[in-house]
Amino acid sequence: MNIQESVIGIDLGGTKILIGEVTKDGEVLHSKSYPSNTENQAKAVEVLLNALDDYSENIGFIATKQVGIGVGLVGRVNYKAGIWLEIEPGKTNPTPLAEILETKTGLPVRLGNDVVCATMAEKQFGWGRETNDFIYLNVGTGLAAGFVVDGRITQGGHFNAGEIGHAVVDIHSDVLCGCGRRGCVERLASGLGIKEEALRHLNEYPTSLLADNKAELTGKMVLHAAEQKDKLAEKIIDNATLQLANLIMNMVRTTDPECVILGGGVTRNELFFQKILANLQSNTIRFVTKGVVRSQLEKDKVGLIGAAVIGMRLGNEGGQE
Ligand SMILES: [Zn+2]
Repeated sequence: MNIQESVIGIDLGGTKILIGEVTKDGEVLHSKSYPSNTENQAKAVEVLLNALDDYSENIGFIATKQVGIGVGLVGRVNYKAGIWLEIEPGKTNPTPLAEILETKTGLPVRLGNDVVCATMAEKQFGWGRETNDFIYLNVGTGLAAGFVVDGRITQGGHFNAGEIGHAVVDIHSDVLCGCGRRGCVERLASGLGIKEEALRHLNEYPTSLLADNKAELTGKMVLHAAEQKDKLAEKIIDNATLQLANLIMNMVRTTDPECVILGGGVTRNELFFQKILANLQSNTIRFVTKGVVRSQLEKDKVGLIGAAVIGMRLGNEGGQE
């Protein structure tokens, strides 16, 4: 196998950094995972640089030439200037990460938000190949979306577009969100939200399967309990899927996509996915001709592949206009 060119992808998440070598066809030649530290950006960058050193020295590269680096990051990213603005609101320390990595490696570097990267992976190698108008909705620990309209992803004037987790879907909800509003979809339907909702209602269901695992409860456990027809879990999952369907239909009314792609661990659950579909109203989604579908890309690699896509500078997502 003689591969001429590859791109280095870096997916920096809340718990791990995935570094890998990716071809222009989206094939991951090799990758390695490192623990991340997102306590603050200075620490995150230090850990990232050490991980990159380890990868270069101990793993090495398969292709003859590396043509660039793409980095997917948690938080807000000024992709035009190559600046990682913040990990989350309140953890703000604008860091010229593209320049830092260019100086270190001599390669051109592009940065992007992690959900933007996943959206770009879909655009280049997933369902997004079939249409220029789609929405990628990630439902994992948190919840966010990427909007592609006329083949271009919308990032917003402050690089904060797609933070759809803070869309209110239940105006009567008393669940207070960190953003200051009540009834945000992330608090009700993300992995973390599902877990917190189950804990909040546990007292009403003392015989629930979840009562035994209160201390180490996860969203996944709530999903599995719903499959076993646990009443508490069913209540939480029924509401989460109803609210997600509301969110999807509101988004469809906003940008008129042909396809809505669901990514993230939570939507992999078959019962959860089917319940979302059951709550969609056919008239509202009549122009979503390619369907509300689940990502076919490998869940653990989609961020890495997306980072490599922005490293390839194939569209507006990587700063090339
Ligand atoms: Zn909120």
